[in-house]
Amino acid sequence: MAIERTFSIIKPDATRRNLTGGINAKIEAAGLRIVAQKRVKWGQEQAEAFYGVHRERPFFKDLVTFMTSGPIIVQVLEGDNAVAKYREVMGATNPANAAPGTIRKEFAESIEANSVHGSDSADNAKIEISQNFSAFEIVG
Ligand code: GDP
Repeated sequence: MAIERTFSIIKPDATRRNLTGGINAKIEAAGLRIVAQKRVKWGQEQAEAFYGVHRERPFFKDLVTFMTSGPIIVQVLEGDNAVAKYREVMGATNPANAAPGTIRKEFAESIEANSVHGSDSADNAKIEISQNFSAFEIVG
């Protein structure tokens, strides 16, 4: 299988509860390597740009408020089939539907405050990585 990269965010609900290490342990246990990582705080413009595809959804405003409510960890993960593998490790969007052992089942607070983001396709991963990292910040 091809080595691939995906983009990840540890969201404000998780940094607030000191879960960065716990989430990273699950990422690494799944065989994904964290090849870039930084702690940042987004402003409204950055959150709106990142979640632009959801602009028309009823929860868009709340989502932007949530994503700007505290620090986040942005990451690049690398491994075999990384996009699909990380979606598996994350679990379903709504933690009530997430499989046992997944990040969202163990850590998420709600469908909104669901602890992590992961790219949903290889094409989106490339876009999201380049929005958040320059090439020299990613060390494979
Ligand atoms: P993901 O790919 O699993 O993160 O899910 P989506 O792309 O559908 O949604 C993006 C993010 O919007 C989710 O991770 C949640 O933080 C938030 N979200 C999704 N659905 C809802 C909803 O019904 N209500 C609220 N408040 N937030 C939602």
